[in-house]
Amino acid sequence: MATIAFIGLGNMGGPMAANLVKAGHSVAGFDLAAASCSAAKDDGVRIAQSARDAVAGAEIVLTMLPAGKHVVAVWSDIVPAMQAGALIVDCSTVDVESARRAHAIAAEAGLSSLDAPVSGGTVGARGATLTFMVGGAADAFAAGEPVLAQMGRRVVHCGDAGAGQAAKICNNMILGISMIGISEAFVLAEKLGLSHQALFDVASTSSGSCWALTTHCPVPGPVPTSAANNGYKPGFATDLMLKDLRLAQQAALSAGASTPLGAEAAALFGLFQAAGHGGDDYSGVINFLRGRS
Ligand code: NAD
Repeated sequence: MATIAFIGLGNMGGPMAANLVKAGHSVAGFDLAAASCSAAKDDGVRIAQSARDAVAGAEIVLTMLPAGKHVVAVWSDIVPAMQAGALIVDCSTVDVESARRAHAIAAEAGLSSLDAPVSGGTVGARGATLTFMVGGAADAFAAGEPVLAQMGRRVVHCGDAGAGQAAKICNNMILGISMIGISEAFVLAEKLGLSHQALFDVASTSSGSCWALTTHCPVPGPVPTSAANNGYKPGFATDLMLKDLRLAQQAALSAGASTPLGAEAAALFGLFQAAGHGGDDYSGVINFLRGRS
């Protein structure tokens, strides 16, 4: 069993750290929010006085923070306090540039590092069923993979530094665009007098099928577990979808990629958020489209 430090014990990091305690590791943690610290303490995490204190003596350090600027700042602070030979892994969703900057901070100190963003949300974090998309050197992946596997169901090595973040934002750009496409089809079906169930039965077994339809169906009924059956409570909040779509646009701009549908998806979810729905499940965008049609 390993000595692990976990920085950022929020909605995702808290339950992920708890799963590492359950797996038998010795886990020290730190978060700026007292409430996150006390919840993690109840789950068996030893709360340190600071992030630097938490990482002292750790073989593996994990961070789960809001955005790229937090990751770069926290890594700049803690990397000098880490022991030689330790591995540092960021599981936050951040822009590719910040991810690469964080890798560089670790490399300058002679430490190995991974970017390992997740998909699966808070349910996956609690149930240890996350998917990890991992970027970094092969030896760093080999060292980190067994620990990541204790918090998730799939751990995919996507390539070198930043490749995990690249995979995450490409995947979520597909998801955001798909949800808008599906929602438009249901809105059109309503206008044409076609029932939700009939469209679902056809599309889910035909060329229109996709994960967003069969798992996050935006109308109540066909998929009983989708947020549409629960007043569009998340699920996957619009704020988080928008964050990922904007990261994809930022990456597209700096890489010179043409992503017109990704841009349109970011604009539509931006309007939906601005209308006061940032906390709603992203599939609620169907109501917004309905209002516009
Ligand atoms: P959260 O806001 O609940 O948790 C982030 C935590 O980081 C907070 O508790 C905050 O106090 C702490 N923090 C911020 N700055 C800090 C610092 N300098 N030192 C120590 N702690 C600090 O957010 P979350 O939902 O847990 O998401 C974390 C990351 O995971 C984000 O990048 C998010 O995009 C990503 N993500 C979230 C979900 C989801 O469903 N919530 C799904 C996939 C990916």
